[in-house]
Amino acid sequence: MSRGRFGAYGGQFVPETLMPSLLELEAAYASARADAAFQSELDSLLARYVGRPTPVYLASRFSASLANEARVYLKREDLNHTGAHKINNCVGQALLARRMDKRRLVAETGAGQHGVATATVAALFGMECTVYMGEVDMARQSPNVRRMKLLGATVVPVTSGTRTLKDATNETIRDWVTNVRTTHYIIGSTVGPHPYPTIVRDFQSVIGREARAQMLEAEGRLPSDVVACVGGGSNALGIFSAFLTDDVRLHGVEAGGSRDGDAATLSRGTPGVLHGAFSYLLQDDDGQVSPAHSIAAGLDYPGVGPEHSFLKDAGRVSYQRVNDDDALAAFASLARLEGIIPALESAHALAFVRRAFSGAPSEGRVVLVNLSGRGDKDADAVEGRLP
Ligand SMILES: *Cc1c(COP(=O)(O)O)cnc(C)c1O
Repeated sequence: MSRGRFGAYGGQFVPETLMPSLLELEAAYASARADAAFQSELDSLLARYVGRPTPVYLASRFSASLANEARVYLKREDLNHTGAHKINNCVGQALLARRMDKRRLVAETGAGQHGVATATVAALFGMECTVYMGEVDMARQSPNVRRMKLLGATVVPVTSGTRTLKDATNETIRDWVTNVRTTHYIIGSTVGPHPYPTIVRDFQSVIGREARAQMLEAEGRLPSDVVACVGGGSNALGIFSAFLTDDVRLHGVEAGGSRDGDAATLSRGTPGVLHGAFSYLLQDDDGQVSPAHSIAAGLDYPGVGPEHSFLKDAGRVSYQRVNDDDALAAFASLARLEGIIPALESAHALAFVRRAFSGAPSEGRVVLVNLSGRGDKDADAVEGRLP
């Protein structure tokens, strides 16, 4: 596999002015990876600040609600500080920013989860922080906007295009190009130009390393199936990466949306270039990027990470769609059967489990679901829509 490529996918489709920064980031990451002090500081922050390891939990009542008697375990990323997996990557990238002597962080955010995680590490490291967010997302995720401001970040509303994540990303890239000497762009998922997809995957791979050992401990075997929702793809690659060479079925679940549209990039898209990388994306016949739609703001993105495009073509991961209504039903089900309110994003993975494991009982199905975040943020979005 050539540098920065996953098969045909990935690469660095960026303006000339950004190349020195990407090279600088690549070099900083290579040296950090080889530096035991970097790794031990990261591990210490993950343990003491983020709250790792997160448990795997056997969801007995949720499992019993499935016809085929699968045993469903949840990897509890919702228990991390700030309530989702995003913080794993932000702590790692903030350490890299400090290593490169950059004292300012910029980020884009859709659901607001990545913005909150970035504002959090900026406060922790005493860095300046600017977060770009589409106007539409600011309205539907207002609790997260308030959290970012409380943490000391500047939140800039983006009013161009569809006023959602794709447009916020364009604005963030513009800021980064302008301030590249002092500023590190924390990308929140396994997307963007090389080396971001690799860096983000590696910082999230702690999820899979922990979960693999925890499943061996709990069940004395590996799970038969691992399931995760896919927006840009970071929580999914974080958990899948530990099982890629095992005899384990891997399922990535995309947002099937509603009649208004979807965000099922791998199921329905075609390859093209978006935000610095070649990967599947939702586009029309003229190559214009189509707007995405999902009830889960964190899945509402017309692109997907290049490694997922590779894994799809290679047939190693199967990608499925779950629509808004089924995600809402799964959201309610987990809340009422287990006392755990999942993020709407994670509810897509749970809905896939409810659909796929509803058949006749089959021996030995042990299913591991990545519960990527908690759903408090979604209380307004689900209001009046639950079954
Ligand atoms: C951001 C987010 C996602 C989607 O992002 P990935 O990079 O695909 O993981 C999923 N779940 C939660 C809770 C999120 O905040």
